[in-house]
Amino acid sequence: MKTDQPIRAKMVNNWLDIIQQLLFPPTCILCGNPGQAGRDLCSHCRLQLPANACCCPCCANPMDAVAAEADRSCGRCIGRPPAFDKVHAPFLYQDGIRYLITGLKFSARHANARLLAQLLTEHVGQNAQRPDCLMPVPLHKARYRERGFNQAIEIGRNVAAETGIPLDLTSCRRRRDTPHQSGLTSKQRRRNIKNAFELVRPVPCPHVAILDDVMTTGSTVHEMAVLLKNQGVERVDVWVCARA
Ligand SMILES: [Zn+2]
Ligand SMILES: [Zn+2]
Repeated sequence: MKTDQPIRAKMVNNWLDIIQQLLFPPTCILCGNPGQAGRDLCSHCRLQLPANACCCPCCANPMDAVAAEADRSCGRCIGRPPAFDKVHAPFLYQDGIRYLITGLKFSARHANARLLAQLLTEHVGQNAQRPDCLMPVPLHKARYRERGFNQAIEIGRNVAAETGIPLDLTSCRRRRDTPHQSGLTSKQRRRNIKNAFELVRPVPCPHVAILDDVMTTGSTVHEMAVLLKNQGVERVDVWVCARA
């Protein structure tokens, strides 16, 4: 499979899209003003979103401008190199982005998934290599039943529709329902997530992008990347909307 094609969002190209835009004109989710460029976001709120501009070239952890300029990985990535190759995280987990993610996750506002996916697609389109497939971080089935959906899959479906990159929802399974990661130190997170996933079939892609809403310490995506690399996947990137 070719991996060097650019990642492009689809154009509004069919009459269903056009009719939908006429009947339901895009409205900014953050302020209620008319949306811009077919998105539920206005140009003012777009400029206010917290960009993750200076960050580690490996794990996308925010850095000061001088360190980011040197294009060297952060101390954490040098001390304990992660199994993934590169994280793409266009925003910080703050303000409007935090509002969009928590609204999707805890209030099931599915329109937020589409907007988050559009913003993520715009960023990876300019910065990332095109992967052969997208793999949303799976939820354990008990957690899935409780929430009714997996926010990573909701964002992933929209990114797949925008880019044409296939989704892989079946190869990786969460076999343990791990306690919530929030409030744990990074060492506790690593221990908590250890062996939480398994690959239930071979992944036929040399280049996989793991997809999630937000990345905190990276222990979850590291754990998935270890499995994928052990099974022969050559490159594992991580696409997340926000870096906490
Ligand atoms: Zn707005
Ligand atoms: Zn790093």
